[in-house]
Amino acid sequence: MLARLRFPLESSRGRSYPEPEHPYRNAFQRDRDRVIHSRAFRRLEAKTQVFAPGLSDHFRNRLTHTIEVAQIARTLAGVLELDEVLTEALALAHDIGHPPFAHAGEEELNRQMARFGERFEHNLHALRIVESFEQRYARFPGLNLTFEVREGMVKHSRDFGPGEQPEVERFLPGLRPPLEAQLIDLADEVAYNSADLDDAFSAGLATGDDVAACVPQYRAIHETIENQFPGATARERFHEVLRRLIDVLVSGLIEGTAGRAREAGVANAEEVRLFPGRLAAFTPEAAETSRALKSFLYRNVYSSAALGEDRNQSMALIGGLFQFFLDRPDCLPPQYREQALAEPAHRVVCDYIAGMTDGFLRRTYEQMIGPAAAR
Ligand code: MG
Repeated sequence: MLARLRFPLESSRGRSYPEPEHPYRNAFQRDRDRVIHSRAFRRLEAKTQVFAPGLSDHFRNRLTHTIEVAQIARTLAGVLELDEVLTEALALAHDIGHPPFAHAGEEELNRQMARFGERFEHNLHALRIVESFEQRYARFPGLNLTFEVREGMVKHSRDFGPGEQPEVERFLPGLRPPLEAQLIDLADEVAYNSADLDDAFSAGLATGDDVAACVPQYRAIHETIENQFPGATARERFHEVLRRLIDVLVSGLIEGTAGRAREAGVANAEEVRLFPGRLAAFTPEAAETSRALKSFLYRNVYSSAALGEDRNQSMALIGGLFQFFLDRPDCLPPQYREQALAEPAHRVVCDYIAGMTDGFLRRTYEQMIGPAAAR
């Protein structure tokens, strides 16, 4: 497959603070393990993915979503003969910078930061977590991950040119990340499209027929399953379709990436970096299915009244707490008060809130401001 494009571990740019090698784990294995052992990783369990817990115990949270992305990404890397461990480390780290309350949380933090001419972006926040906020080592701040894992974290969803972003200027602006990192965003897309459909089905926001009416590829599989299992329950049929749909998307991603690499004529990992575009891609048919699923989810799920209410409340809680800490920096925990001596208050407040789980944010809001409106 693409073994020639696999990122060669021996050409890694290494760690910011040199460390002796481990007797039996290579650098990317250690990075993966460091991510799993971090506090930010464990906190994913109490952060909303799309559906807030409460209505059901079966919805994804950001941790179970992350595990699904890692599983899909590992499969992709394995079939394509890329570095599975680097891919897995990146998949496990891909959402650790996510604030509480899913996208509503990210949007609200970004809106608050925009008042100060700045922004909040979860990939940059993830970099701050692994480079400084995690405190587990006596000899250095953060997790001291290899260059390629940190580069993949900041570039997994988009590229940037020289001078575009001062915070990440050290991560080879203008160059593509290794193919292992390019896979993450698309593995994420497969995982969340299928998982959100599943959770929407559980929440009663969508039926198999609803999806079939909007997504031709889904409809085709749906019809086959109806004929094959006429006596199955709606739930069983839905899962039969969903499983095949994931297969179609993952296969489209394998085929699309292999095809594009062939057309591009790239010979090694260095040429992947120099190639003007990304090589990880769906086939055109799988891309169309992915787009159709996304637009179905936007119309029927993400913008539904059920999620809209949660969203407004989440934004109000974050906005309220942000302003509270700006007005009362003396109420911040000691390490953030210390950070505020060196950095602007809005940045410190943003870092503090971004690290919170949904539950911790609610509790802090109640402690500092008072009872939030019931949800
Ligand atoms: Mg994700």
